[in-house]
Amino acid sequence: MGTDTATVDSLRMPTATFEVAPGITAIDTFMGGRDRYTAGYLVAAAEPALIETGPGTSVEPVTRALDDLGVAPDSLAHLVLTHIHLDHAGGVGAIARRFPRATVWVHERGARHLADPTRLVASAERVYGPERMASLFGPVEPVPGDQLRVLGDGQVLSLGDRSLRAIDTPGHASHHLAIVDETTEVVFTGDALGIHVPNLPVLRPATPPPDFDLELAIASIERIRAAAGSTLLFAHFGPISDVDRTCDLAIRRLREWTEAVRGAMRRTTDLDEIVEVLSREAAREVVTGAEAQLDLDRLETLAGIRMNAMGIARYLQKLDADGEPQPS
Ligand SMILES: [Zn+2]
Repeated sequence: MGTDTATVDSLRMPTATFEVAPGITAIDTFMGGRDRYTAGYLVAAAEPALIETGPGTSVEPVTRALDDLGVAPDSLAHLVLTHIHLDHAGGVGAIARRFPRATVWVHERGARHLADPTRLVASAERVYGPERMASLFGPVEPVPGDQLRVLGDGQVLSLGDRSLRAIDTPGHASHHLAIVDETTEVVFTGDALGIHVPNLPVLRPATPPPDFDLELAIASIERIRAAAGSTLLFAHFGPISDVDRTCDLAIRRLREWTEAVRGAMRRTTDLDEIVEVLSREAAREVVTGAEAQLDLDRLETLAGIRMNAMGIARYLQKLDADGEPQPS
């Protein structure tokens, strides 16, 4: 695949839990019963922190994994979210109840939707339909108000003997944070760089409505590049060690996808036709192989072409409405 490929460290991973950096363990959240879709990460410290909980369907597997890793219900100190999309945070309310001493940290624009997830659930149901929503994400419980705290750009979260730092990284979502472990300089990237799944050397952009913004997304990737030492920890799924090449690839794919939708929108307003164009663009990066179909299903579940097309189209319409200059 030459220079078009991300480094697929995940090919070498066992499932369930695996160490990805000193004191940092990835936990397969088994979202919707599926393996290697969405990862949470336990940061071992005097005050242990879990980065991302996965959705409601992940509460049992994640609780079991924490138990296996020796984290007792009264010892988990922090639950840190990169953003509130349900695949990352749908289970946080239920997990917060099981770990009642844990503080839940989230971007200020996400906090009220964790306290009252009604709108979050309604918008996911519109996108996925109630049936698929239930099977992938499961129930969404509110986070108890006394456990909920806001995390802002540059804020350092002390875990006692190590610390995490938040970086504001909008683009995929307006309320997206990347989290830096200050000891190892690994960065928990959430969805800021897109989706990378096992077995496929593919980095798929994640550009959902209503927030996707190309220029913000690129600036956020540059902030992550500047903060990252040797490793990026993707929520979907696992570590990637080639930081520069991965950041370059993520930016290039975002530009290419946006240009593909822009070109399609010059010819048509029909969403199906725009989706068709973007599907061809996506296919340029996809490889065939024995494991490819399952992994294409992973990509489509996590960042469907249609949802991406809708997000980019909405972004371009907003640019038009704002009267900003368009590159020709
Ligand atoms: Zn997301």
